Amino acid sequence: MSQIDGLPPLREVIATHGMVAKKSLGQNFLLDLNLTSKIARQAGDLTQCDVLEVGPGPGGLTRGLLAEGARKVLAVEKDSRAMGPLGEIQAAYPGRLDVINADALELDPLQHLTPPIRVVANLPYNVGTELLVRWLTPKIWPPAWSSLTLMFQKEVAQRIVAQPGSKAYGRLAVLAQWRCDAQIVMELPPEAFTPPPKIRSAVVHLDALPEPRFEANADKLQKVVATAFNQRRKMLRASLKGLSPEIEDILTSVGIKPTSRAEEIGLEEFCALTRALTK
Ligand code: SAM
Repeated sequence: MSQIDGLPPLREVIATHGMVAKKSLGQNFLLDLNLTSKIARQAGDLTQCDVLEVGPGPGGLTRGLLAEGARKVLAVEKDSRAMGPLGEIQAAYPGRLDVINADALELDPLQHLTPPIRVVANLPYNVGTELLVRWLTPKIWPPAWSSLTLMFQKEVAQRIVAQPGSKAYGRLAVLAQWRCDAQIVMELPPEAFTPPPKIRSAVVHLDALPEPRFEANADKLQKVVATAFNQRRKMLRASLKGLSPEIEDILTSVGIKPTSRAEEIGLEEFCALTRALTK
């Protein structure tokens, strides 16, 4: 029995349900429930919140979230083999865990939850990045969720919190920091997972700001940033030429040197540029 919830240890659960990790689903499981509780605590106070957990697998983090007092957890998992283990957790926490066996990229589970909503996930990094971008770019802001606590490979985590002038700075940093406070709150070595991945991992916590830091049209800002960083080595007057024939004048009008490169441009300048291009 585990100390946090009286359910069997995860190693036993995985053996009983034959949940050998599948590479195709990016499965690297966290089996230490003290560690998963610690990750759950990084999401903040859960007692008044619904939690969307994406990719629960055998449920280590799910158990951490419930033990930390989440009002309700909705877990979305693609692998049907996880339904057995998750069913046992449901029985141990009556009425507090809902499970959907589906691909998280193909549904919008936020609508099934009651705010305040916190999102927590330990996903394969490509799925995580795709979902992060979707969560950061809803049609209206503030979004349905109030925070995201997500495990990434460390290099991706660094890209989310990167500052201008660094190699890691790019589209993810601008999109995340425009509308959120973002920070790396934990780092994990490969040995924390079963099987251990080749890379180090990190947990990023993002709190949604009530309003974006600077005014800009979201779709246009995304386009400007994507275009600028697509050719990050080029000067902006060249990389952004396709956005306007007068790009040099527009850059100058908002105080950006046309010879600068995307990675030198801060959030405020990208937003000013976007506004000037929208006029
Ligand atoms: N959260 C568990 C843990 O921490 O031990 C499992 C983490 S494992 C890195 C990633 C999990 O995401 C796996 O259970 C995998 O089956 C699931 N997964 C992968 N792609 C998914 C998708 N598109 N939608 C939902 N779940 C997915």
